[in-house]
Amino acid sequence: MIPFNKPYLTGNETEYIQLAVASGKISGDGMYTKKCHDFFETRFGFGKVLLTTSCTDALEMAAILINIEPGDEVIIPSYTFVSTVNAFVLRGAKIIFADSEESNPNIDVSKIEGLITSKTKAIVPVHYAGVACDMDRIMDIAEKHNLYVIEDAAQAIDSYYKGKPLGSIGHLGAFSFHETKNIISGEGGMLTINDPSFAGRAEIIREKGTNRSSFFRGEVDKYGWVDVGSSFLPSDIIAAFLFAQIENLDKIQNRRKEIWTRYDNSFKSAGLDKILRTPFIPDYATNNGHMYYLVTEGLEQRNKLIDTCKAKNIHPVFHYLSLHKSPFYVDKYKGEDLVNADFYTDALVRLPLYYSLSDSEQDVIIETIINTFKS
Ligand SMILES: *Cc1c(COP(=O)(O)O)cnc(C)c1O
Repeated sequence: MIPFNKPYLTGNETEYIQLAVASGKISGDGMYTKKCHDFFETRFGFGKVLLTTSCTDALEMAAILINIEPGDEVIIPSYTFVSTVNAFVLRGAKIIFADSEESNPNIDVSKIEGLITSKTKAIVPVHYAGVACDMDRIMDIAEKHNLYVIEDAAQAIDSYYKGKPLGSIGHLGAFSFHETKNIISGEGGMLTINDPSFAGRAEIIREKGTNRSSFFRGEVDKYGWVDVGSSFLPSDIIAAFLFAQIENLDKIQNRRKEIWTRYDNSFKSAGLDKILRTPFIPDYATNNGHMYYLVTEGLEQRNKLIDTCKAKNIHPVFHYLSLHKSPFYVDKYKGEDLVNADFYTDALVRLPLYYSLSDSEQDVIIETIINTFKS
């Protein structure tokens, strides 16, 4: 059986968890959280980072930080995970759904300006499959209309736009370390703060609305309730797990990209890219080996692919039902048809991609898919 995902353990996870436990401090912001923060700030040059319990939480923090109030409008692609949207819905925002590009599932930047009104407060691009959105154009639009940009970089660790790390370009960015992502901590996430004016308040919101972080640094002699907030910080046990992963980031990335490239080369040399679409990566973007997907003609062809795979015990998956058509939102949606988002909803399929996928297992997947379409 070849599952869609298998979490990869580098070997040091449980040792670091034991060390965290032995240190006597297992709540948030302990030794391993600090090590993770230092790593991400140094390696990717993020202004400031804060580990969170999930990417969902990092997005919720972002919505609080930019003071989303009821009635504010936020522009978000419809083809994304619910958390991208929920974070803003929770604060009373009205979601303005945008369509995807025809060539790939990222937000269609040419449609954004037409969606802006006097109530628009933010744009939330999602770097689908870790492939960058056209950030220069998005940042230009945001600057012209005085909007915030929050990057949903959940899938985008170690990926770049014109040489800049994703998550470092918008005012704020959100990453995920969920077990299906490239580097993992079970559940986990991170907020990146690129506009320094958010840094102080981000620490407070993450610590239940208190200035406890300043207190621990000795900057104030007592801490108290100074703002709204919640418990967004992870235990140091989670950070210990994550630190074992990030020590092996390059090894994980190299193997994932190798698997990705092997899929791509095999399908292209078999001419499958004349029947199905292989992933499109614009010149300005890198591939971080997060996801290998195929775009079929639609539901029928996708079902055929999934069924033939399942018959061989291979488990590809599809995901993202356009959010503007989801049960929670369909009655509220008043906008235009989003044809590309709906198309990807029916046509996109993700293939198994994980560190321990062997070449021979991958060969079985590749052969099964090629045979499905060559016959
Ligand atoms: C995984 C994912 C999330 C949610 O991440 P969690 O850490 O599970 O909260 C949000 N957005 C996108 C695009 C994702 O892929």
